[in-house]
Amino acid sequence: IIRFDGVTKRFGALTVLDDFSFAVAPGEKVTLIGPSGSGKSTVLRILMTLEPFQEGTLTLGGHGYHQPGGAGAFRASEKHLRAIRCNVGMVFQSFNLFPHMSVLRNITEAPRAHGVPRAEAEGRALDLLGLVGLADKKDHFPAQLSGGQQQRVAIARALAMRPRVLLFDEPTSALDPQLVGEVLGVIRSLAHEHDLTMLLVTHEMRFAREVSDRVCFFNKGRIVEQGDPERMFRSPEHPETRAFLQSVL
Ligand code: ATP
Ligand code: MG
Repeated sequence: IIRFDGVTKRFGALTVLDDFSFAVAPGEKVTLIGPSGSGKSTVLRILMTLEPFQEGTLTLGGHGYHQPGGAGAFRASEKHLRAIRCNVGMVFQSFNLFPHMSVLRNITEAPRAHGVPRAEAEGRALDLLGLVGLADKKDHFPAQLSGGQQQRVAIARALAMRPRVLLFDEPTSALDPQLVGEVLGVIRSLAHEHDLTMLLVTHEMRFAREVSDRVCFFNKGRIVEQGDPERMFRSPEHPETRAFLQSVL
């Protein structure tokens, strides 16, 4: 459902992804781990079409696009980009809720903008709030919620468009330790949904081991090693993977 073919991404002179190829199957739960600055967020941002790239092709949910020539501008039409974005929901490290909107509005905003009638959008939002355990907070504003609650709203919002792919970029690393568990609990329950494809960047190694079908160790813009989580954590084969895991475990 996700495929990068030879994608190269540069920021000026800095090459973050160099001929990067990577695929995720429908329903698969994949975790990306790797050092700071290695390009993990860039991979997710490219998927979310938030970031242009210079070479290669990206395919998402059957919609492919590419940007040859290094012009930096999106080659895909706006309509095409919208089709891609509708397939994907993203949860950021820093929640990124709209501060001036209630919890309910935060979740209904995207479906409303895509023409979903108000009553239906609100019904869906309430279901999602139930799912993340916050049905009683629908009229609160983000500033009135704890970090863990805000992140659970952000997850509900990411699900509002019924995406087939859900991306998480270090969803718990901005949280106080006692709030991490509630957010991981929600992600864990989503990981049980057979049809949902998940790509997760995290430093929570135990959690990665528990929920992923596959763990990819990513460094300097390429995947150094990937495989079954049990195997990766028990007996990493590549010296770079071993060094990284020793530094974080
Ligand atoms: P972390 O674990 O710290 O979040 P990361 O693996 O997510 O790191 P990225 O955020 O993808 O890393 O960044 C990869 C590289 O690209 C870094 O060297 C970063 O400085 C650089 N970079 C990211 N965004 C930009 C930008 N908008 N302009 C210039 N350089 C950028
Ligand atoms: Mg990052």
